[in-house]
Amino acid sequence: MRIVVTDFDTEVCKRLEDALSRFTHWLPYWVNEIYIYRQPKDNGGASCRFDKRYRRMCLYVSGELVHSNIEDIEPVFAHEIAHAYNGDICMCLDTYMPTIIKEEGTFELTRAIFMERIEEQTQDLAFLFLDKTEARDG
Ligand SMILES: [Zn+2]
Repeated sequence: MRIVVTDFDTEVCKRLEDALSRFTHWLPYWVNEIYIYRQPKDNGGASCRFDKRYRRMCLYVSGELVHSNIEDIEPVFAHEIAHAYNGDICMCLDTYMPTIIKEEGTFELTRAIFMERIEEQTQDLAFLFLDKTEARDG
C-alpha cells in the first residue's frame, strides 16, 4: 500500500499517514495507492474519490480536520475507507441512473434514497473498522 501526502507540511503529512495507516488493512484489495490532498473548497471533514482502473483512492482532507485531535481524524478516515466498498454504486447512480430514470424529480428522489442507505452502510462499516482496529492495536 502506497500513501502519498504532499499538500501539507512534513509534520502534518506524517500525522495523516500514520492515522490512515491504522485502517488501510480494511481496504478492498483493488486499492493499491492512496493520495491525500487538501480539500479544494475546504468545506469540512473529508471526502474521497476512487479510480478503480488505476487502483487509486484520493482522499481530500479539510484544513479543520488536519488540525483536529487524532481521535477526531481516525473515525473520518475509517468512514472514507469504508466508502471504497460502495464507491462503484455511487458512480453508477450518478453516471447511469439519469439516463435510465427520465421522469421529472424521480431520479433525484431515487438518488437521495440510495445515498442515505449508502451513508448508513458506510458508517456501519466505519464503526466495525474502528472497533476491530482498537481491539487489535489498542
Ligand atoms: Zn460518507
